[in-house]
Amino acid sequence: GENITVQELAEKLKKTAAEVIKKLMSLGVLATINQEIDFDTAALIASEFGYEVELKVAVDKEALLMAEPEDDPEKMKPRPPVVTIMGHVDHGKTSLLDAIRETNVTAGEAGGITQHIGAYQVEHNGKKITFVDTPGHAAFTAMRARGAQITDIAVLVVAADDGVMPQTVEAINHAKAAQVPIIVAINKMDKPEASPEKVKQELTQHDLVVEDWGGDVIAVPVSAKQRTGLENLLEMILLVAEINELKANPDRLARGTVIEAELDKGRGPVATVLVQNGTLRVGDTIVVGHVFGRVRAMIDDKGRRVKKAGPSTPVEILGLSDVPEAGDILIAVEDEKLAREVAEKRQQRKREEELKATSKISLDDLFKHI
Ligand code: GDP
Ligand code: MG
Repeated sequence: GENITVQELAEKLKKTAAEVIKKLMSLGVLATINQEIDFDTAALIASEFGYEVELKVAVDKEALLMAEPEDDPEKMKPRPPVVTIMGHVDHGKTSLLDAIRETNVTAGEAGGITQHIGAYQVEHNGKKITFVDTPGHAAFTAMRARGAQITDIAVLVVAADDGVMPQTVEAINHAKAAQVPIIVAINKMDKPEASPEKVKQELTQHDLVVEDWGGDVIAVPVSAKQRTGLENLLEMILLVAEINELKANPDRLARGTVIEAELDKGRGPVATVLVQNGTLRVGDTIVVGHVFGRVRAMIDDKGRRVKKAGPSTPVEILGLSDVPEAGDILIAVEDEKLAREVAEKRQQRKREEELKATSKISLDDLFKHI
Protein backbone atom coordinates (compact mmCIF):
# COMPACT_ATOMS: atom_id res chain seq x y z
CA GLY A 1 0.00 0.00 0.00
CA GLU A 2 0.75 3.64 -0.09
CA ASN A 3 0.90 6.08 2.82
CA ILE A 4 0.63 9.79 3.20
CA THR A 5 1.24 12.01 6.24
CA VAL A 6 -1.54 14.08 7.75
CA GLN A 7 0.37 17.22 6.81
CA GLU A 8 0.75 16.15 3.17
CA LEU A 9 -2.89 15.19 2.94
CA ALA A 10 -3.93 18.54 4.41
CA GLU A 11 -1.86 20.35 1.79
CA LYS A 12 -3.39 18.31 -1.02
CA LEU A 13 -6.88 19.01 0.25
CA LYS A 14 -6.11 22.68 0.87
CA LYS A 15 -7.13 22.32 4.49
CA THR A 16 -5.24 22.90 7.70
CA ALA A 17 -3.68 19.93 9.47
CA ALA A 18 -5.97 20.67 12.39
CA GLU A 19 -9.05 20.29 10.19
CA VAL A 20 -7.82 16.95 8.89
CA ILE A 21 -6.97 15.74 12.40
CA LYS A 22 -10.42 16.76 13.56
CA LYS A 23 -12.04 14.88 10.68
CA LEU A 24 -9.92 11.85 11.48
CA MET A 25 -11.04 12.01 15.08
CA SER A 26 -14.66 12.13 14.04
CA LEU A 27 -13.95 8.83 12.27
CA GLY A 28 -12.34 7.41 15.36
CA VAL A 29 -8.75 7.79 14.20
CA LEU A 30 -6.31 9.57 16.47
CA ALA A 31 -3.41 10.99 14.47
CA THR A 32 -0.65 13.55 14.82
CA ILE A 33 0.46 15.96 12.13
CA ASN A 34 3.43 13.86 10.96
CA GLN A 35 1.70 10.54 11.24
CA GLU A 36 1.25 8.42 8.16
CA ILE A 37 -2.22 7.25 7.30
CA ASP A 38 -3.03 4.64 4.72
CA PHE A 39 -4.45 5.25 1.29
CA ASP A 40 -7.97 4.11 2.07
CA THR A 41 -8.24 6.37 5.12
CA ALA A 42 -6.84 9.27 3.14
CA ALA A 43 -9.37 8.63 0.38
CA LEU A 44 -12.14 8.54 2.97
CA ILE A 45 -11.05 11.86 4.47
CA ALA A 46 -10.85 13.36 0.99
CA SER A 47 -14.37 12.26 0.24
CA GLU A 48 -15.52 13.67 3.60
CA PHE A 49 -14.20 17.00 2.37
CA GLY A 50 -16.09 16.57 -0.87
CA TYR A 51 -13.19 15.36 -3.01
CA GLU A 52 -13.29 12.39 -5.32
CA VAL A 53 -9.75 12.76 -6.59
CA GLU A 54 -7.93 10.29 -4.38
CA LEU A 55 -10.25 7.45 -5.24
CA LYS A 56 -9.96 8.28 -8.88
CA VAL A 57 -6.18 7.96 -8.66
CA ALA A 58 -6.59 4.36 -7.51
CA VAL A 59 -8.76 3.56 -10.49
CA ASP A 60 -6.51 5.45 -12.84
CA LYS A 61 -3.51 3.31 -11.95
CA GLU A 62 -5.31 0.27 -13.25
CA ALA A 63 -6.43 2.15 -16.33
CA LEU A 64 -2.90 3.42 -16.83
CA LEU A 65 -1.48 -0.07 -16.65
CA MET A 66 -4.10 -1.58 -18.97
CA ALA A 67 -4.13 1.25 -21.49
CA GLU A 68 -3.33 -0.17 -24.87
CA PRO A 69 -0.86 2.04 -26.75
CA GLU A 70 -1.89 3.05 -30.27
CA ASP A 71 -0.07 0.92 -32.78
CA ASP A 72 1.84 2.63 -35.53
CA PRO A 73 0.08 1.43 -38.75
CA GLU A 74 3.52 1.04 -40.33
CA LYS A 75 4.43 -1.56 -37.76
CA MET A 76 1.35 -3.70 -38.23
CA LYS A 77 2.16 -7.09 -39.76
CA PRO A 78 -0.17 -9.89 -40.86
CA ARG A 79 -0.75 -12.45 -38.12
CA PRO A 80 -2.13 -15.99 -38.19
CA PRO A 81 -5.89 -16.39 -37.68
CA VAL A 82 -7.04 -17.80 -34.35
CA VAL A 83 -9.70 -20.43 -34.88
CA THR A 84 -12.14 -22.04 -32.45
CA ILE A 85 -14.03 -25.22 -33.25
CA MET A 86 -17.63 -25.28 -32.09
CA GLY A 87 -20.61 -27.53 -32.51
CA HIS A 88 -22.97 -30.06 -30.98
CA VAL A 89 -21.60 -32.80 -28.76
CA ASP A 90 -20.37 -35.87 -30.67
CA HIS A 91 -20.41 -34.09 -34.01
CA GLY A 92 -16.64 -34.50 -34.16
CA LYS A 93 -14.94 -31.38 -32.77
CA THR A 94 -12.20 -33.25 -30.98
CA SER A 95 -11.73 -35.66 -33.87
CA LEU A 96 -11.42 -32.78 -36.30
CA LEU A 97 -8.91 -30.92 -34.12
CA ASP A 98 -6.87 -34.10 -33.74
CA ALA A 99 -7.04 -34.92 -37.44
CA ILE A 100 -5.86 -31.45 -38.43
CA ARG A 101 -3.04 -31.51 -35.90
CA GLU A 102 -1.86 -35.00 -36.79
CA THR A 103 -1.93 -34.55 -40.54
CA ASN A 104 0.13 -31.40 -40.07
CA VAL A 105 2.96 -32.85 -38.06
CA THR A 106 6.00 -32.07 -40.16
CA ALA A 107 8.99 -34.32 -40.64
CA GLY A 108 11.00 -32.35 -38.09
CA GLU A 109 8.52 -33.18 -35.40
CA ALA A 110 8.68 -36.93 -35.83
CA GLY A 111 7.02 -38.63 -32.91
CA GLY A 112 4.03 -36.42 -33.34
CA ILE A 113 2.27 -34.59 -30.60
CA THR A 114 4.41 -34.16 -27.57
CA GLN A 115 2.30 -31.80 -25.62
CA HIS A 116 -1.20 -30.61 -25.09
CA ILE A 117 -1.45 -26.97 -24.12
CA GLY A 118 -5.00 -26.11 -25.14
CA ALA A 119 -4.03 -24.57 -28.43
CA TYR A 120 -1.79 -25.40 -31.35
CA GLN A 121 -0.52 -24.04 -34.61
CA VAL A 122 -0.41 -25.72 -38.00
CA GLU A 123 1.08 -24.59 -41.26
CA HIS A 124 -0.68 -24.72 -44.58
CA ASN A 125 1.02 -23.52 -47.76
CA GLY A 126 3.58 -21.73 -45.61
CA LYS A 127 0.95 -19.88 -43.61
CA LYS A 128 0.19 -20.48 -39.96
CA ILE A 129 -3.20 -21.10 -38.38
CA THR A 130 -3.78 -21.19 -34.63
CA PHE A 131 -6.43 -23.55 -33.28
CA VAL A 132 -7.77 -23.01 -29.80
CA ASP A 133 -8.96 -26.19 -28.23
CA THR A 134 -11.38 -24.70 -25.70
CA PRO A 135 -13.13 -27.42 -23.79
CA GLY A 136 -16.60 -26.85 -25.12
CA HIS A 137 -18.80 -23.83 -25.06
CA ALA A 138 -18.42 -23.22 -21.36
CA ALA A 139 -14.90 -21.87 -21.66
CA PHE A 140 -15.83 -19.80 -24.68
CA THR A 141 -18.78 -18.30 -22.85
CA ALA A 142 -16.77 -17.71 -19.69
CA MET A 143 -14.10 -15.90 -21.66
CA ARG A 144 -16.63 -13.79 -23.47
CA ALA A 145 -18.34 -12.96 -20.21
CA ARG A 146 -15.01 -11.58 -19.04
CA GLY A 147 -14.65 -9.53 -22.19
CA ALA A 148 -11.93 -11.64 -23.69
CA GLN A 149 -12.19 -12.05 -27.41
CA ILE A 150 -9.67 -14.52 -28.70
CA THR A 151 -11.28 -15.97 -31.80
CA ASP A 152 -11.04 -14.63 -35.34
CA ILE A 153 -12.91 -17.44 -37.02
CA ALA A 154 -15.35 -20.07 -35.72
CA VAL A 155 -15.44 -23.44 -37.45
CA LEU A 156 -18.90 -24.84 -36.86
CA VAL A 157 -18.85 -28.62 -36.97
CA VAL A 158 -22.14 -30.21 -38.00
CA ALA A 159 -22.40 -33.98 -38.39
CA ALA A 160 -23.87 -34.76 -41.79
CA ASP A 161 -25.85 -37.68 -40.38
CA ASP A 162 -27.37 -35.68 -37.53
CA GLY A 163 -27.82 -32.12 -38.78
CA VAL A 164 -28.37 -28.94 -36.82
CA MET A 165 -28.90 -29.70 -33.12
CA PRO A 166 -29.48 -27.50 -30.03
CA GLN A 167 -25.78 -26.90 -29.33
CA THR A 168 -25.23 -26.13 -33.00
CA VAL A 169 -27.72 -23.29 -32.64
CA GLU A 170 -26.05 -22.18 -29.40
CA ALA A 171 -22.70 -22.09 -31.16
CA ILE A 172 -24.15 -20.05 -34.01
CA ASN A 173 -25.56 -17.56 -31.52
CA HIS A 174 -22.26 -17.27 -29.66
CA ALA A 175 -20.31 -16.68 -32.84
CA LYS A 176 -22.83 -14.13 -34.05
CA ALA A 177 -22.84 -12.29 -30.72
CA ALA A 178 -19.07 -12.12 -30.86
CA GLN A 179 -19.24 -11.06 -34.53
CA VAL A 180 -16.92 -13.85 -35.48
CA PRO A 181 -17.18 -15.19 -39.06
CA ILE A 182 -18.39 -18.78 -39.31
CA ILE A 183 -17.10 -21.51 -41.57
CA VAL A 184 -19.21 -24.67 -41.56
CA ALA A 185 -17.45 -28.03 -41.55
CA ILE A 186 -19.97 -30.66 -42.53
CA ASN A 187 -18.40 -33.68 -40.85
CA LYS A 188 -18.85 -37.45 -41.03
CA MET A 189 -19.22 -37.34 -44.81
CA ASP A 190 -17.94 -40.94 -44.86
CA LYS A 191 -21.18 -42.17 -43.29
CA PRO A 192 -23.68 -43.71 -45.70
CA GLU A 193 -26.52 -41.74 -44.10
CA ALA A 194 -24.67 -38.42 -44.53
CA SER A 195 -26.93 -35.72 -45.91
CA PRO A 196 -25.09 -32.44 -46.46
CA GLU A 197 -28.08 -30.92 -48.27
CA LYS A 198 -30.25 -31.45 -45.22
CA VAL A 199 -27.60 -29.72 -43.09
CA LYS A 200 -27.49 -26.76 -45.47
CA GLN A 201 -31.23 -26.49 -45.49
CA GLU A 202 -31.37 -26.53 -41.69
CA LEU A 203 -28.65 -23.88 -41.48
CA THR A 204 -30.74 -21.46 -43.53
CA GLN A 205 -33.30 -21.51 -40.72
CA HIS A 206 -30.61 -19.87 -38.58
CA ASP A 207 -29.63 -17.28 -41.17
CA LEU A 208 -26.58 -19.16 -42.33
CA VAL A 209 -27.01 -19.45 -46.08
CA VAL A 210 -24.19 -21.39 -47.72
CA GLU A 211 -22.61 -20.36 -50.99
CA ASP A 212 -24.25 -22.96 -53.22
CA TRP A 213 -27.59 -21.86 -51.84
CA GLY A 214 -26.88 -18.29 -52.86
CA GLY A 215 -25.50 -17.07 -49.53
CA ASP A 216 -22.02 -16.13 -48.39
CA VAL A 217 -21.32 -18.79 -45.79
CA ILE A 218 -18.52 -21.18 -46.69
CA ALA A 219 -19.32 -24.84 -46.05
CA VAL A 220 -16.71 -27.56 -46.42
CA PRO A 221 -17.56 -31.26 -46.45
CA VAL A 222 -15.06 -33.21 -44.34
CA SER A 223 -14.46 -36.50 -42.65
CA ALA A 224 -12.35 -36.31 -39.54
CA LYS A 225 -12.30 -40.08 -39.51
CA GLN A 226 -11.04 -40.57 -43.05
CA ARG A 227 -9.17 -37.27 -43.04
CA THR A 228 -10.77 -35.96 -46.18
CA GLY A 229 -11.55 -32.33 -46.91
CA LEU A 230 -9.08 -31.08 -44.29
CA GLU A 231 -6.80 -29.29 -46.77
CA ASN A 232 -9.81 -27.56 -48.23
CA LEU A 233 -10.95 -26.48 -44.77
CA LEU A 234 -7.53 -24.99 -43.99
CA GLU A 235 -7.60 -23.25 -47.37
CA MET A 236 -10.96 -21.67 -46.57
CA ILE A 237 -9.78 -20.57 -43.11
CA LEU A 238 -6.83 -18.79 -44.70
CA LEU A 239 -9.12 -17.22 -47.27
CA VAL A 240 -11.43 -15.81 -44.59
CA ALA A 241 -8.37 -14.65 -42.64
CA GLU A 242 -7.05 -12.83 -45.67
CA ILE A 243 -10.38 -11.11 -46.28
CA ASN A 244 -10.39 -9.93 -42.66
CA GLU A 245 -6.82 -8.55 -42.91
CA LEU A 246 -5.74 -9.73 -39.47
CA LYS A 247 -2.79 -7.74 -38.24
CA ALA A 248 -0.74 -7.09 -35.11
CA ASN A 249 2.39 -5.26 -34.08
CA PRO A 250 5.11 -7.75 -33.11
CA ASP A 251 7.38 -4.87 -32.17
CA ARG A 252 5.98 -3.99 -28.75
CA LEU A 253 5.33 -5.42 -25.29
CA ALA A 254 2.98 -8.38 -25.35
CA ARG A 255 -0.68 -8.52 -24.58
CA GLY A 256 -2.63 -11.79 -24.53
CA THR A 257 -5.32 -13.90 -22.93
CA VAL A 258 -5.11 -16.93 -20.66
CA ILE A 259 -6.63 -20.01 -22.26
CA GLU A 260 -5.91 -22.47 -19.47
CA ALA A 261 -4.08 -22.33 -16.17
CA GLU A 262 -3.25 -24.81 -13.46
CA LEU A 263 -0.96 -25.50 -10.56
CA ASP A 264 1.56 -28.06 -11.74
CA LYS A 265 3.15 -30.18 -9.03
CA GLY A 266 6.66 -29.81 -10.27
CA ARG A 267 6.55 -26.57 -12.20
CA GLY A 268 4.29 -24.40 -10.08
CA PRO A 269 1.65 -22.16 -11.65
CA VAL A 270 1.47 -22.77 -15.40
CA ALA A 271 -0.64 -20.73 -17.80
CA THR A 272 -1.30 -21.25 -21.47
CA VAL A 273 -1.54 -17.86 -23.01
CA LEU A 274 -2.48 -16.76 -26.48
CA VAL A 275 -0.30 -13.80 -27.37
CA GLN A 276 -2.56 -11.41 -29.28
CA ASN A 277 -0.37 -8.42 -29.83
CA GLY A 278 3.32 -7.69 -29.35
CA THR A 279 5.98 -10.25 -28.58
CA LEU A 280 6.32 -12.01 -25.25
CA ARG A 281 9.88 -12.82 -24.17
CA VAL A 282 11.55 -14.83 -21.46
CA GLY A 283 12.48 -12.35 -18.73
CA ASP A 284 9.50 -10.06 -19.34
CA THR A 285 7.69 -8.70 -16.31
CA ILE A 286 4.01 -9.52 -16.57
CA VAL A 287 0.67 -9.02 -14.90
CA VAL A 288 -1.95 -11.69 -15.52
CA GLY A 289 -5.23 -10.80 -13.84
CA HIS A 290 -4.39 -10.63 -10.14
CA VAL A 291 -1.04 -12.35 -10.63
CA PHE A 292 2.31 -10.63 -10.93
CA GLY A 293 5.41 -12.37 -12.23
CA ARG A 294 8.29 -12.71 -14.58
CA VAL A 295 8.39 -15.09 -17.52
CA ARG A 296 10.90 -17.70 -16.40
CA ALA A 297 10.41 -20.06 -19.32
CA MET A 298 8.08 -20.55 -22.28
CA ILE A 299 7.10 -23.78 -23.98
CA ASP A 300 5.38 -23.94 -27.34
CA ASP A 301 2.67 -26.33 -28.54
CA LYS A 302 5.30 -28.79 -29.76
CA GLY A 303 6.85 -29.00 -26.31
CA ARG A 304 9.89 -26.94 -27.24
CA ARG A 305 11.38 -24.24 -25.08
CA VAL A 306 11.15 -20.89 -26.80
CA LYS A 307 12.61 -17.48 -25.99
CA LYS A 308 9.86 -15.42 -27.60
CA ALA A 309 6.29 -15.68 -28.86
CA GLY A 310 4.73 -13.30 -31.36
CA PRO A 311 1.10 -12.46 -32.22
CA SER A 312 -1.37 -15.38 -32.44
CA THR A 313 1.12 -17.75 -30.81
CA PRO A 314 -0.01 -19.99 -27.96
CA VAL A 315 2.61 -20.64 -25.29
CA GLU A 316 2.85 -22.09 -21.85
CA ILE A 317 4.47 -19.73 -19.41
CA LEU A 318 6.23 -20.50 -16.15
CA GLY A 319 7.22 -18.09 -13.43
CA LEU A 320 3.92 -16.81 -12.09
CA SER A 321 3.41 -16.38 -8.36
CA ASP A 322 -0.14 -17.75 -8.46
CA VAL A 323 -2.59 -19.41 -10.85
CA PRO A 324 -4.57 -16.97 -13.02
CA GLU A 325 -7.98 -17.73 -14.53
CA ALA A 326 -9.01 -18.56 -18.07
CA GLY A 327 -9.95 -15.31 -19.75
CA ASP A 328 -7.52 -13.21 -17.70
CA ILE A 329 -5.59 -10.68 -19.71
CA LEU A 330 -1.82 -10.85 -19.73
CA ILE A 331 0.26 -7.76 -20.24
CA ALA A 332 4.00 -7.37 -20.28
CA VAL A 333 5.03 -4.17 -18.56
CA GLU A 334 7.84 -1.71 -18.21
CA ASP A 335 6.71 -0.14 -14.94
CA GLU A 336 7.28 -2.95 -12.48
CA LYS A 337 6.19 -0.91 -9.47
CA LEU A 338 2.89 0.06 -11.00
CA ALA A 339 2.30 -3.52 -12.17
CA ARG A 340 2.95 -4.96 -8.74
CA GLU A 341 0.68 -2.40 -7.15
CA VAL A 342 -2.21 -3.08 -9.51
CA ALA A 343 -1.80 -6.86 -9.12
CA GLU A 344 -1.84 -6.46 -5.33
CA LYS A 345 -4.97 -4.33 -5.49
CA ARG A 346 -6.68 -6.95 -7.62
CA GLN A 347 -5.55 -9.69 -5.28
CA GLN A 348 -7.05 -7.79 -2.38
CA ARG A 349 -10.29 -7.32 -4.29
CA LYS A 350 -10.38 -11.00 -5.12
CA ARG A 351 -9.89 -11.93 -1.47
CA GLU A 352 -12.65 -9.57 -0.43
CA GLU A 353 -15.01 -11.06 -3.01
CA GLU A 354 -14.15 -14.58 -1.90
CA LEU A 355 -14.75 -13.55 1.69
CA LYS A 356 -18.10 -12.08 0.74
CA ALA A 357 -19.01 -15.30 -1.04
CA THR A 358 -18.04 -17.33 2.00
CA SER A 359 -20.02 -15.24 4.43
CA LYS A 360 -22.99 -15.45 2.11
CA ILE A 361 -22.81 -19.22 2.11
CA SER A 362 -22.55 -19.38 5.88
CA LEU A 363 -25.52 -17.07 6.16
CA ASP A 364 -27.51 -19.33 3.87
CA ASP A 365 -26.38 -22.30 5.91
CA LEU A 366 -27.54 -20.56 9.03
CA PHE A 367 -31.00 -20.02 7.64
CA LYS A 368 -31.22 -23.61 6.54
CA HIS A 369 -30.97 -24.68 10.16
CA ILE A 370 -33.68 -22.36 11.37
P1 GDP B 1 -17.07 -34.00 -30.10
O1 GDP B 1 -17.96 -34.34 -28.94
O2 GDP B 1 -17.71 -33.01 -30.99
O3 GDP B 1 -15.68 -33.62 -29.70
O4 GDP B 1 -16.98 -35.32 -30.98
P2 GDP B 1 -15.84 -36.41 -31.06
O5 GDP B 1 -14.68 -35.94 -31.84
O6 GDP B 1 -15.56 -36.92 -29.71
O7 GDP B 1 -16.54 -37.51 -31.96
C1 GDP B 1 -17.72 -38.16 -31.53
C2 GDP B 1 -17.83 -39.51 -32.19
O8 GDP B 1 -17.95 -39.35 -33.59
C3 GDP B 1 -16.58 -40.40 -31.99
O9 GDP B 1 -16.99 -41.71 -31.81
C4 GDP B 1 -15.83 -40.22 -33.29
O10 GDP B 1 -15.03 -41.34 -33.59
C5 GDP B 1 -16.94 -40.06 -34.29
N1 GDP B 1 -16.53 -39.28 -35.46
C6 GDP B 1 -15.93 -38.07 -35.46
N2 GDP B 1 -15.69 -37.66 -36.72
C7 GDP B 1 -16.15 -38.64 -37.53
C8 GDP B 1 -16.20 -38.80 -38.95
O11 GDP B 1 -15.75 -37.97 -39.74
N3 GDP B 1 -16.77 -39.94 -39.42
C9 GDP B 1 -17.28 -40.90 -38.59
N4 GDP B 1 -17.82 -41.98 -39.14
N5 GDP B 1 -17.23 -40.76 -37.25
C10 GDP B 1 -16.69 -39.65 -36.72
MG1 MG C 1 -14.85 -33.31 -27.77
